[in-house]
Amino acid sequence: MSFKNYPMVSRVVFGRGSFNQLSEIIEPKRINTKAPFIYLVDDVFKGKSWITSRIPLSYKDELIYISTAEEPKTSQVDELVEQIILKHNERPSGIIGIGGGSILDLSKAVSILLTNEGEAKDYQGWDLVKNPAVYHVGIPTISGTGAEVSRTTVLTGPEKKLGINSDFTPFDQVILDPELTKDVPKDQWFYTGMDCYIHCVESLNGTYLNAFSQSYGEKAMELCKSIFLKSSLSDSDKDEKLMMASWHGGMSIAYSQVGVAHAMSYGLSFLLGTKHGIGNCIVFDHLGEFYPDDVALFKEMKKLNNIKLPQGICANLTDEEFDIMINVALSLEPLWENAVGKKWKQTITHEKLKSLYKLM
Ligand code: NAD
Ligand code: ZN
Repeated sequence: MSFKNYPMVSRVVFGRGSFNQLSEIIEPKRINTKAPFIYLVDDVFKGKSWITSRIPLSYKDELIYISTAEEPKTSQVDELVEQIILKHNERPSGIIGIGGGSILDLSKAVSILLTNEGEAKDYQGWDLVKNPAVYHVGIPTISGTGAEVSRTTVLTGPEKKLGINSDFTPFDQVILDPELTKDVPKDQWFYTGMDCYIHCVESLNGTYLNAFSQSYGEKAMELCKSIFLKSSLSDSDKDEKLMMASWHGGMSIAYSQVGVAHAMSYGLSFLLGTKHGIGNCIVFDHLGEFYPDDVALFKEMKKLNNIKLPQGICANLTDEEFDIMINVALSLEPLWENAVGKKWKQTITHEKLKSLYKLM
């Protein structure tokens, strides 16, 4: 048996206001004293000078606003890489992503494709990347996905929704400034926060569990409970704790796997474009038979935070559409093996998944 030798984020700074240190952190990484830094920024921040005025642009640095109406696609990565290569005659000094899971994933992928030939879809899978990426920095503005700490970047390609999992994927630098998450809308805060809760549930209840994953998972779970159950914490305390929960939840699944909710949510996402956070919530609400106590707790969190999930999103689907979704979910074998065990195929059948999807 061989154990995974796991790369980690090389440097991390944590603290309210730490975003102000961006310039002093990245300037020493500038290549040839002037090659540009490219900022990929969620367009929700367009016109929000409290954040954009603190992005230190010099030389030919460029700020590109990106819509997160849809989750990242391989074609979008290819277009961005081409745009950067055409516009700048030297290789960028670095890529800096400012946003949620979508922007963090795009930034990781763009930094990889700037130094590796071909298209993003060629690298979806495990350990297909050959050359180290361009220096890349992740600055999360919403907490929960763990994308800031993970070894993957999830992309929807022409054939599949799959990550670029590689030793070159993790960020070289992460800046955790909880103040940046202060304006996240309540519903979105809950959905992305629940991604973290569900990471913990799936890791802690999985057959792949080990002491490494458990230690991170238990800490993240404790933080999630303190935030989403009846809580005396101030909003700023919650922002800080959720940022750390996200980090620990990401570390927990790094050395194990996610489970049923993620497998089925990938199916929803592929067919209907349902986004990750809300998709996980829609699925998890119906997974009482797999995770009874944790689903009961989820329902309590939903109620306490006044969250109403969409209902009936699969009500009018055709048999062919159910087939597409079910096949995507069933193809994620490691997730099922982690959730149910080596003999998962005995109970996780096409019909079983159809009956679950019909509830959603
Ligand atoms: P997101 O990045 O799509 O952001 C959700 C919404 O919140 C967007 O509308 C965005 O504009 C808004 N937003 C973000 N920060 C804000 C702020 N400070 N103020 C106001 N609005 C703000 O969503 P997400 O849930 O963070 O990420 C989902 C993506 O992450 C999916 O594409 C999923 O596949 C990916 N993901 C990746 C990993 C990984 O390990 N790489 C893990 C889990 C999920
Ligand atoms: Zn997730």
